[in-house]
Amino acid sequence: MADIKETLREIPSVDEILKAPQCGEWLKTHPRPLVIKAVRDVLQIKRESLIKGVNSEPVSDSLSSDTILSEIERTLKDLSAFRLRPLINATGIIIHTNLGRSILDECVIRNMEGIAMRYSNLEYDIEKGERGKRHAHLEEILSTLTGSESSVVVNNNAAAVLLVLNTMAYGKEVIVSRGELIEIGGSFRIPEVMERSGAILREVGTTNKTHLKDYEGAVNERTALLLKVHTSNYRILGFTSDVSLQDMVILGQRKGIPVMNDLGSGCLIDLKRYGIYGEPTVKEVLKSGVDIVTFSGDKLLGGPQAGIILGKEVYIERIRKNPLARAVRIDKLTLSAMEATLREYLDEDRAIENIPTIRMLAQPLGDIKRRAKKIERVLKTFLGSQFKVDVMQDSSQAGGGSLPMLNLPTFVVALSPSVKGPRLKVNDLEERLRKSDRPVIARIKDDAIIFDARTIQDEEIKELVDSVKVALKD
Ligand SMILES: *Cc1c(COP(=O)(O)O)cnc(C)c1O
Repeated sequence: MADIKETLREIPSVDEILKAPQCGEWLKTHPRPLVIKAVRDVLQIKRESLIKGVNSEPVSDSLSSDTILSEIERTLKDLSAFRLRPLINATGIIIHTNLGRSILDECVIRNMEGIAMRYSNLEYDIEKGERGKRHAHLEEILSTLTGSESSVVVNNNAAAVLLVLNTMAYGKEVIVSRGELIEIGGSFRIPEVMERSGAILREVGTTNKTHLKDYEGAVNERTALLLKVHTSNYRILGFTSDVSLQDMVILGQRKGIPVMNDLGSGCLIDLKRYGIYGEPTVKEVLKSGVDIVTFSGDKLLGGPQAGIILGKEVYIERIRKNPLARAVRIDKLTLSAMEATLREYLDEDRAIENIPTIRMLAQPLGDIKRRAKKIERVLKTFLGSQFKVDVMQDSSQAGGGSLPMLNLPTFVVALSPSVKGPRLKVNDLEERLRKSDRPVIARIKDDAIIFDARTIQDEEIKELVDSVKVALKD
């Protein structure tokens, strides 16, 4: 015990360390509280490890001022780094919810920047010189792109669904097929949202089969809405049947009950041209005569996080007046990014080029191969004897609960051990890449690290290569 007390006394004080010239340099470029926290954190760790006796290095080494200072420098770097930061998505999952779903093009950011840095007519009518409406800015373009009668845009699609149900079916029944009572990653469950909205769920049919007569049989004087939900992240295959939106609309009209379709992703262009089937456009959906449609802004649409509600003016007007609408309203930065994104859709070729989500989906295989080859070429210049690099065919996914059955052919760069039992294991390499200054999120497949060239941007190749270079160092 006496020894430990002796040694603990050898740990320098915070003030002593702050007097070191190196510390003076850090203070010039870092906020003082951050430098002090870094010093305290390192000294605290020293103290704890001495007391626990886990420190295997000779005490004098671990307490040398060089060691302590370099540990403080590393801690300071960690503390100074932003918590939310960019990374490289090498997973090949385009709309990756954990990695921020859709990324935005520079033209969209420029518009957002212009609005962020200035006052704007967010809720001001320039023509009349009086208070205006926030939702008015997107009304016209949404109508042009989808044929919608009216619209309101909110914080996200979960909010959109909640708001519509609360407005149209509070205390009343909503009929939904059992096959559509879905959960979307991150705890969005239709039955739970329904409950919170104050609407009463009326399930019909079975998991694999629901017929029109099931809906019809469930209609009563308490019914407020017929709801169809896009099953997004799953498909029921085999012995199945569901009721088309068209048939639900006809039933709704016959019974005088509005019909809503939660589309989930919401696609604005016909992807069949690019060999992608199975997702109707919002315009096609609205043509069925459905009363309300909701979808996300940052899934297949490729814009910022938002929830878009389109439909008949009578219902949209009620939705806008709901006090909850204020709680879930869209903010001005999102609004400006959404307007810029939607404007790209006025010209389909521009949408393909300037909306990264759509660009990555529709990307010609040849372009992906070229990018993969380029990455391979650069990696080859410094790979040691431990790892080899190959370009191979694989498949990417749309992600974000969109097009779950779609396997997009792609090219990947595979880093695999070229010797048996390399010093650095593939799992450790994956971890190092993930934790590098510019994190690279990759997959492991058959003892190889796989970088899918589809979701790696051209401007990111240099950073990717740098991260690999650092990760391979001993
Ligand atoms: C993704 C999704 C939602 C939730 O949308 P967010 O934009 O994540 O709030 C709701 N319904 C369906 C069918 C979805 O696919």
